[in-house]
Parts: sequence; structure tokens; C-alpha cells
Amino acid sequence: MTDQLQTYLQAHAGEAQALLEQLCRQPSVAAQNLGIAEAADLVRSLLDDAGFTTQRFEVPGAPPAIYGEQRGRSPFTLLLYNHYDVQPAEPLELWHSPPYEPTVRDGNLYARGVADNKGEIAARLAAVRALRAAYGALPITLRWIIEGEEEIGSPHFAAIAERYAEPLRADGCLWEGSGFDVADRPVLVLGTKGLLYVQLEVEGTGHDAHSGMAPILPSAAWRLVQALASLRDADGRVRIPGFYEPVRPPTSAQRAAIAAQTDMTAQWREAYQVEEFVDGLAGAPLRERQAFTPTSNIAGLLSGYTGEGVKTVLPAQAMAKMDFRLVPDQDPGEILAQLRAHLDAGGYGDVRVTALGGAEPVVTPIDHPFVQRIAAIAEEFAGQPPSISPLIGGTLPLLGALRRFVGVPGLMAPGNAGYWASGAHAPNEHIRLADLSRAVAFNCHMFSALAAS
Ligand SMILES: [Zn+2]
Repeated sequence: MTDQLQTYLQAHAGEAQALLEQLCRQPSVAAQNLGIAEAADLVRSLLDDAGFTTQRFEVPGAPPAIYGEQRGRSPFTLLLYNHYDVQPAEPLELWHSPPYEPTVRDGNLYARGVADNKGEIAARLAAVRALRAAYGALPITLRWIIEGEEEIGSPHFAAIAERYAEPLRADGCLWEGSGFDVADRPVLVLGTKGLLYVQLEVEGTGHDAHSGMAPILPSAAWRLVQALASLRDADGRVRIPGFYEPVRPPTSAQRAAIAAQTDMTAQWREAYQVEEFVDGLAGAPLRERQAFTPTSNIAGLLSGYTGEGVKTVLPAQAMAKMDFRLVPDQDPGEILAQLRAHLDAGGYGDVRVTALGGAEPVVTPIDHPFVQRIAAIAEEFAGQPPSISPLIGGTLPLLGALRRFVGVPGLMAPGNAGYWASGAHAPNEHIRLADLSRAVAFNCHMFSALAAS
């Protein structure tokens, strides 16, 4: 870092926090349509102030996505993605300070959205302001899209990406970012799993019946349980024909990256309060299983009487919600068709299947030049090699649209101020203020280093 930049960052040490508090004071809950229009205007004005030429990307039925572009000295063009919406703050009684009144306690800043992901918007803004102040212009060209519906699954992002593909093109994209792990190693994430979310329903009788009629009435609950049991072996293997056919095994480079990650076995055991993981897994094999295994998970089950004491009833209906987490190259539409065919073939034509959501798995190859470049920049910044996740268990539905319509290679870089215990989506969401300064410094370093090649 040069002296001019260092001097500016020291003189404006509180700038990122002030920006972040301003963003967090504005509620922006997409699920409740709370403060969304105001948040979009605020984000646009902050980008204007930081030197971006801004516009609203609009498609029918969606809140505006805010877009900004700022030319830099080098021809390298970087696309940044963020979202200005947040998860609902409820249950409010669990917060130790009001969710939309940013509050500092013990070096932490508490507010809804402070980690996910307004802290990153503030860190990126503060870095841009510092670089402009120190050098008069940005080292690289930045294109930045900040949408308002990520926390409800980005339902209009495909329409936005299709309509505005041209201004979104870039040499590389930084998705909503990651941070540093327990060993202070910078974390790079190269992909997210796909998702198929379905609801299964069985109707056995017109209404609940006395269970004395069980010998002669169809049971919705048993039908559903048996249909569910046909989907998975006891060892976790999915029994839907064709499910594993498109699955690509991890490459040797991906497996090496997993092996080199910081071990979290003990922390995970404690966090989930389990004695042991499935099959007694630990260390690298545990991380590899978690990263590369597609799953059929029962997310919810509902039927009959579940209250206190006894009620001898034969329930009329039974319902389950399931999510299938998918790996490359599984396709949610194909899996849905295979699920239907499997149920029909097993005699479960009466089990109704409704798809409630889908997203493709998206992975940037580890040997992609953009990945290698960000990895080298992160190592130079931290003084130790980054921890690279080839694929994480979560899903970002917008990435499929970004790949399809824009085609820009992307990853998560450690420019986010959140950490593993930030409590994103939970009460008392917070960041450590020291992480915010580090995120600003990292973004300054990364934007500068991308210009030099
Ligand atoms: Zn987020």
C-alpha cells in the first residue's frame, strides 16, 4: 500500500463505519416490502457520491437494481455484485439493541444486514473513495450491480441479467464476498450448489377419521412416509434413477484445495452439538463429502395430531417439503422429472409433487486465470495462502442467470466484513469493527493489484 493511500485511510478511519451505519439505519426487507424504495435511492446516492455514473435497472414487478460504472486507468474491468435487501429482523424480542439502530458493543457493530451484506457495500464504497482520493482515479474499471431481492431468492435477476447483459460484462466478477477464517486465512469460494425445492402431498380421505377405521381406510401419512423412504437408502444414497448420472467427480485440483483448507471438525462438532458426523467422518474427507455430495433432504413433515397427549386419529392428509442440493452438472428441471418418474414407477402416482423453486449449480474452475489471480492477490495481502472452497453447500440463484446471460467468471473474495459467527439472518447480527477496516484495506489492495498485469 502506498503512502498516499495509507495516509488517507488513517485520516478517514471512521468512513466505512459511518457509511455502514447509514445503510443499516434504512430498513430494507424484501419479504415485507419494507423500506425497499428508500434503500434503493440511498444506495444510488452513495454510489453517485463515490464517483459512479449510476442508473436504475428496471424490469416489471421488481424493485430497481442499482447499477454504477466508474472508469479506471487500466483496461481491466471488474463486476461487483451485492444486494441492498436484508432478511426480516423478527423475532425482535431476541435483539439486545433495535435491529435498525446500529449499535457498537465490545468492538462489534450490531444491526440487521450489517454482515449480510451491507458491510461489504460499505467496505467496497470506502475503498473506492480512498483510491480516488489518493490517486485521482480508480486503478481498474468497476461495474457494480446492487439488487433488492436476494433474500427472497432473486426472482427477477434473470430478467435483469438478460435485459442488461451488455453493461454487466466484465473480465471477472466478485460475487457477494467471503471473509477470513479462524486461522486468519483469506477465504475464496468458487461455487454454490444448485437447488430443487418441492412439496409432496398425499390426500387419503375426505376428512380426518376415527382410527378404528384404519383397517379399511387409506392412510395418507403411511403413503407419504413410504414414498419418502423410497427416495433414499439408509446410507444417504439417493435412489432416484439417473440422479447421479450427470455428476462430475471433483478434479484433483479441487480435492487438493479441500485438503489444504483449515480444519473445522471440532468447531462444527461444537456448533451443531453432535458427537460424530455421518460415517464417522473428520478432516479432509468430511469437508470433501460436505462440498461434493448432492442430497435429498426432508425439510419439513406434517400430518395428523402432534399436540400433547393422545388423539387416536387417522389423518386425511400428509405433506412434506424437500430440498435437493445439486452439484455440477445436475439440472433442477431434470431432477424434478426423474423424481416424478420414480414415484410413478413405484406406484406412488397419488403423491402430488409441486416444485417451489430451482437453481443451477455454478462453479468456476480452480485453474481459471481469474481465480489464480485473486488467490495470488489474497496471499500477498495476508502473508499466507488462501483457503479455497471449490463448492459450498449454499445456493445463490442469481449466479445461474449471471452465467447464462453475461458469462462472466466469478468467485467470492474476502472483501466482506462478516465472520463465521456474524449471525447472518439471525437476531443480533454483527461484525467485528476490526474486520471492517481489514475488508476496506483488502479491497484497496485487490483493486490496485488487478491493474498491474
Ligand atoms: Zn447476502
